[in-house]
Amino acid sequence: MRYDTVIIGGGLAALLCGIELVRNGKSAAIVTTGHSTLHFSSGSFGLYNGAEPLKAVEALGEEHPYSKLGENIEQLAAKATEILNVAGVATIGDAEANHYIMTPTGALRQCWLSMEGMVTSKDGKSLDFSDALILCPEGFLDFYTQFVADSLRRLDVEVAEALFSLPELVIRRNNPTEMRSVAVARALDKEENILALASIISREAKATQTVIMPAVLGFERTDVLSRLEKITGKQILTVATLPPSVEGIKAERALRRTFERMGGVIFNGHTATEYTMDEGAVATITTSKGVTLAANDFVLASGSFIGGGLQALRSGVTEVLFGADVVAPEVTELTNRELFAAQPFMSAGIATDAQFKVMVAGQAVENLYGCGAVLAGYNPVKEGCGAGVAMFTALAVAEDIINR
Ligand SMILES: Cc1cc2nc3c(=O)[nH]c(=O)nc-3n(C[C@H](O)[C@H](O)[C@H](O)COP(=O)(O)OP(=O)(O)OC[C@H]3O[C@@H](n4cnc5c(N)ncnc54)[C@H](O)[C@@H]3O)c2cc1C
Repeated sequence: MRYDTVIIGGGLAALLCGIELVRNGKSAAIVTTGHSTLHFSSGSFGLYNGAEPLKAVEALGEEHPYSKLGENIEQLAAKATEILNVAGVATIGDAEANHYIMTPTGALRQCWLSMEGMVTSKDGKSLDFSDALILCPEGFLDFYTQFVADSLRRLDVEVAEALFSLPELVIRRNNPTEMRSVAVARALDKEENILALASIISREAKATQTVIMPAVLGFERTDVLSRLEKITGKQILTVATLPPSVEGIKAERALRRTFERMGGVIFNGHTATEYTMDEGAVATITTSKGVTLAANDFVLASGSFIGGGLQALRSGVTEVLFGADVVAPEVTELTNRELFAAQPFMSAGIATDAQFKVMVAGQAVENLYGCGAVLAGYNPVKEGCGAGVAMFTALAVAEDIINR
């Protein structure tokens, strides 16, 4: 099988790159082992920490992936937002000024975009409601009401807490592993459960206009939150659960569907394990299921350690598929013993040239690009730029391929 471009990945970087290619008339296939780090998402997309992220990135050194994007970051941010929205991932926020999203631990994290319907704050010091009911399914394992309540109280919100159950959830509680976010969200997709939950909200939230729930409102359906708001007349907001994150999974599924609807092909459950070269360019890759794919261009969007693109061996950090050149601290320097300090391993990744072409043995491979978390030169946690780097480098790579 032959495509214009074959992308190795399956996360935010692979999907944005793939969508941009196919909607510009290129044929593209995504080869993916499976779940991406979107399954850990707090429902937010970080561009860079600081009140004004676009200004903050101007000061970055040349090793940072953003520095290879030149002055395009604002346009890339607009294009990334547009693609998310086209895919049905409704967002709030803009790149001019960060806002804050409440994470599962109750902490407020700066971000450029967040998924619509979540608890957010403009300035990190206040919310636009003064009292709220936190309503959580009884026996739910992925959400700690107390973290969220404590955080809301610090923001001067008067908080009440209540648990709820539904006949279907009572049955699920017989097996504690069933009380996880995806299973609960699937249950809440059912019309009879939406109506039952609406009655519970109306009963429990008599004294308040705002109800906060774990982000488990709808898995296949996108209208669960709006239906509940309509029926109850209350403002309903959500906070992401501990992983697996229903919001992140929904975003991944929506982007996948969009890529496929536009003509892209996904080889799901296929790990790229081998490749061949022809005159200094990649000719084919072969997957763990024995499928060989040829293409004019290849994109490595295989993520960092957690995604599977990088591995740390006793001998050092390596890129798994192509053995690309890696920029990384010595193995003994990969971690900082201070748990909350910036962890050096997070800035490890592959070396690329100015167009994100992957360096192997000191040479840029003409038709092999890298994008997303596999890249070196930035720390997604310390800088709050994981999603931004994934999406913007993916779009820059797609643009280079389209214009060639
Ligand atoms: C725990 C956690 C929470 C995060 N939360 C947030 C957040 O709330 N907001 C935010 O902005 N950023 C967050 N980030 C950062 C952000 O999610 C990532 O930086 C970004 O999504 C990376 O996307 P990616 O596509 O480059 O890589 P990944 O998401 O890692 O995806 C890599 C993909 O490649 C596939 N793959 C790997 N090797 C192969 C192979 N050989 N063949 C086929 N497929 C392969 C994997 O299966 C996976 O699907 C978080 C990161 C982590 C780890």
